[in-house]
Amino acid sequence: MDFKEEFEKKVMKETKKLIKKDKKLLVAVSGGKDSITILYLLHKWGYDVEALMIDLGFRFFKEHVDNAREFCRELGIKLHIASVKKELGRGMRELQLRAGKSNCFTCGVIKRWLINRKAKELGFEKVVTGHNLDDYAESILMNIFMNNRNASRNLRSPFRIKPLNYIPEKEIEKYAREMGFKINYEACPYSDNAFRRLVLNMMREYEISAMNVVKMFEKTSMKEEGKFRKCSICGGPSSGEICNACRLINLIKKK
Ligand code: AMP
Ligand code: ZN
Repeated sequence: MDFKEEFEKKVMKETKKLIKKDKKLLVAVSGGKDSITILYLLHKWGYDVEALMIDLGFRFFKEHVDNAREFCRELGIKLHIASVKKELGRGMRELQLRAGKSNCFTCGVIKRWLINRKAKELGFEKVVTGHNLDDYAESILMNIFMNNRNASRNLRSPFRIKPLNYIPEKEIEKYAREMGFKINYEACPYSDNAFRRLVLNMMREYEISAMNVVKMFEKTSMKEEGKFRKCSICGGPSSGEICNACRLINLIKKK
């Protein structure tokens, strides 16, 4: 079996554990290697898929939107595009500057919130994302260092389906490159998540196994499941009375 076949077999095994074929799926696509790969494979395997992209409104993001458009057009997949600017009156860069928090925090919170809102409008209860094993392990370690239990619970959100959760990033990138997907592999120019980078470097330097981190987390955090509440403003999933996004949006409005 060559690399591509082996990779597909591995992802299919994970996918079958999570998704039944009769359900219509919404895949959140960023135009990056992970989400494009899972969208491609689900479609190839005959799942009934639609795609949702949040147009962040950054100038550099236009290429991602165009790539996703072309990809979905070629495969005949329906693509929904929700624009941050249309929904919130401002592009992501402006929201980041006004919020005065870390760029990645503001972008992540708003993105998750908009994905949930659009999915609900389109009649989907859950959304497929392209999160990979390395993302997962890094987030677990970051949350442990920061004692961030809410973020830890988000990692196991019942509203997300993550078929690539146990697949190393390197393998996904190799697959995407071998498949020749038209993708931008560059990191976001506004990314300021120095702490994530630190954790990533630490994992590399000490050869910490991402799979071991994930296994440890999953064995010990089962009891944290199912404790989501509804945000009293937007009705989306929240760990408290008001969700992070609504708090952030209120803060930006006041500025
Ligand atoms: P990230 O947090 O950027 O690593 O993205 C993790 C996953 O979230 C991706 O694999 C996508 O499934 C989803 N995602 C990220 N950015 C977007 C976006 N702009 N629009 C839709 N989905 C996204
Ligand atoms: Zn809310």
